[in-house]
Amino acid sequence: MKTSSVNLSSVTTYRFGGLCKNFITIDNVDNFSKISEEMNSNNTFVLGKGSNIAFSDSEYRGYVLQTDFNFINLLNDENTLEVGSSVYLPDLSRYLKKESLEGGEFLLGIPGSIGGALKMNAGAYGYEIGRNVVEVNCYDLDQKQLVKLDPKSINYSYRKSSNLNNKVILSAILKFEKGNFKEISEKMSEFNKNRKKSQPPGIYNAGSVFKNTKEYYAGELIEKAGLKGYSINNVSVSSKHANFFIAKKGAKALSLYKLVQHVKEKVNDKYGVMLEEEIQFIGEFN
Ligand SMILES: Cc1cc2nc3c(=O)[nH]c(=O)nc-3n(C[C@H](O)[C@H](O)[C@H](O)COP(=O)(O)OP(=O)(O)OC[C@H]3O[C@@H](n4cnc5c(N)ncnc54)[C@H](O)[C@@H]3O)c2cc1C
Repeated sequence: MKTSSVNLSSVTTYRFGGLCKNFITIDNVDNFSKISEEMNSNNTFVLGKGSNIAFSDSEYRGYVLQTDFNFINLLNDENTLEVGSSVYLPDLSRYLKKESLEGGEFLLGIPGSIGGALKMNAGAYGYEIGRNVVEVNCYDLDQKQLVKLDPKSINYSYRKSSNLNNKVILSAILKFEKGNFKEISEKMSEFNKNRKKSQPPGIYNAGSVFKNTKEYYAGELIEKAGLKGYSINNVSVSSKHANFFIAKKGAKALSLYKLVQHVKEKVNDKYGVMLEEEIQFIGEFN
């Protein structure tokens, strides 16, 4: 376990964030007996790879807790894996390919951790990680105990989970299907090509800003509202994909926040649709 002062801009893909004087890294379950008694789900933010997060520019006054559990174990049932929460999704995707297990090809282009993916129910190309979950092992920050959750109690839906808000995900048991190595490789290349063609690269952004629904694609509405390329103080609606907002080096989280409010307002004025954020703003923005 390590407690340090960390500039949060160094731990997110957007590179936004102020100082956090209580940045705690947990690399052993026993560490939970050593963390401050006052830590709970209200004053502690659990961070993965920071690829869905915009921290505010000011100091973060609570605790930020990050896990360091980097293991993948193939279990006796060969289609089932135990995966540590910090495992990088592209690494998991490549591991699954190596074992000829299919269903993880979509993870190759998502620059997050499995902990973050399990919380967000990350998905792409018709896949969602929630479908692979057998069990999630967590530490409950309020009850101060370890808990195991089954997929029923997490109740996964589009980019949404239940019962995980006050918990630190430590690991998960995931199940995939046996597949064909060549077909898995081809699918991964196809998804990769597709992303490169349609999305900007993964720095200074956090993927899709808004959620899509059955009725609309957020990017399409933003584009039709004439906002592609629109910019506020060095943060712009990407000209490649209107649901990606790209920051320039040194830009402020507040500019992203203002851009998000502006786009919501314009889309609502034009289409009567209130877009819902997929990215999370953490800290003070007003
Ligand atoms: C270029 C790019 C492309 C992307 N493409 C996609 C895509 O196709 N599909 C998609 O769904 N997302 C996509 N994303 C968004 C993002 O990568 C995913 O949401 C990812 O799952 C977030 O993981 P993370 O580890 O970065 O989590 P973070 O951003 O650090 O956190 C996200 C949420 O998960 C929680 N969390 C993180 N770790 C834990 C843990 N161990 N225990 C409990 N809670 C935790 C956080 O508290 C927060 O609520 C993209 C992002 C980028 C930058």
